[in-house]
Amino acid sequence: MTTQTEYRSQLHHRQKELMVKWYERLNEAAETGEPPTVSMMISGNCVELLEGFSAVPIYPEVNALQLAIRHQSLEPILLAEELGYAADNCAYVKADIGAYLRGITPTGGKLPKPTLVLCNFVGCNTYLKWFEHVAEFTGAPLYTLDVPFMRYDEPTHADIEYVVKQLKELIKRLEDLTGRKFDYDRFKEAVRCSSEVENLWSRIKHLAKHSPSPFDAYFDAITLMGPLYVYRAKPEGVEFFEIALKELQEKVLNERDDGEREQFRVVIEGPPPYPHFRTFRDMFAKWNATAVASTYSTVGGLWEFGARHDPSTPFESVARHMLEHNVTNRNYLQRYDQIKKYVEDWNADGVIIHFVKSCRLFSAGQGDMRDYFTKTLGIPTLYIESDLEDPRYFSEAQLKNRIDAYFEALEHQKLSHRGIEERRN
Ligand code: SF4
Repeated sequence: MTTQTEYRSQLHHRQKELMVKWYERLNEAAETGEPPTVSMMISGNCVELLEGFSAVPIYPEVNALQLAIRHQSLEPILLAEELGYAADNCAYVKADIGAYLRGITPTGGKLPKPTLVLCNFVGCNTYLKWFEHVAEFTGAPLYTLDVPFMRYDEPTHADIEYVVKQLKELIKRLEDLTGRKFDYDRFKEAVRCSSEVENLWSRIKHLAKHSPSPFDAYFDAITLMGPLYVYRAKPEGVEFFEIALKELQEKVLNERDDGEREQFRVVIEGPPPYPHFRTFRDMFAKWNATAVASTYSTVGGLWEFGARHDPSTPFESVARHMLEHNVTNRNYLQRYDQIKKYVEDWNADGVIIHFVKSCRLFSAGQGDMRDYFTKTLGIPTLYIESDLEDPRYFSEAQLKNRIDAYFEALEHQKLSHRGIEERRN
């Protein structure tokens, strides 16, 4: 029997309203040319800067994942492959390009030609080519904002200055393209909103330390991530995360730990297989397993360890966010450390590594990661494979077998420990 771990509430309704409103604004931009729009990447985005122009972000990654979750990604992927995109290209890119050429959008509404294609390149070099292609196909101008990779524990002063200079150059570019003057006060206010949202989101993530956790920090976190990217720098974002925090705090207060609803606590590394999202989730629900933390939920920002935007130094804090406070621009050892902290501080039983065929950024080196967690740290770790966008790479029976075997072993381990404890007492 499958246990439903998902729950629906006010935050889900509000999330839907906000995302619909965002797509309506994009449709309006496509129809009328206003408001200005900027295509950007989620990781290390500088959405606060767009607020200074009352511009709306377009996130090709969000569009691609929406297509996948609605089972609409295969047709555009096949079209892109017919055009010459290789089988092992990132499937987000293929879905996005194919959907653009075929006129498929996640809502059926229109997507505008971006005022600017902003390649805020962090970590993954696929971004560079993807955004060159977006600019080429849409005919929109391209600006590549080069964000140095994290080579040390902290970005250097020169790194921050280098990004700030480019942000200022970007402002000039947007002033020329939109005919609008950059509103510095609005930008500062956007940075303030972001810091509030980050604080609320961080408090939500820490709620998962409770047992049972009031939400699944992988599967449910995805509901919260849309507003996080689109509305982080807006009062609507603050209001949304206040609702979410309040609801989840109430859940903590009202839910008794009967030991049944949450039998396993895991940390998940890597993006989910969106085309088979429900099926994949049910494989964990069957074992009453909850993800108490995930690296994927930090692609847009890594705030549960204390980082925040700072309105007193708005440009520097946007630069720091782009450089340092998102998982994709950090090195592998920093990711090890992040997962280790989750296991220890969120009290997890094990780690699940989901290798995503399309995504080299997340997946390269995950074999070593599994060895590190299993052999060096002794943490039960499962390594599984599929894809985040391409429905063809999902072997349901094989995944199910591996996940079942993992939880059976964990269960056995827990029972043995309990037996030892009881004999001791
Ligand atoms: S390779 Fe991964 S990180 Fe890079 S664009 Fe594709 S999905 Fe995103």
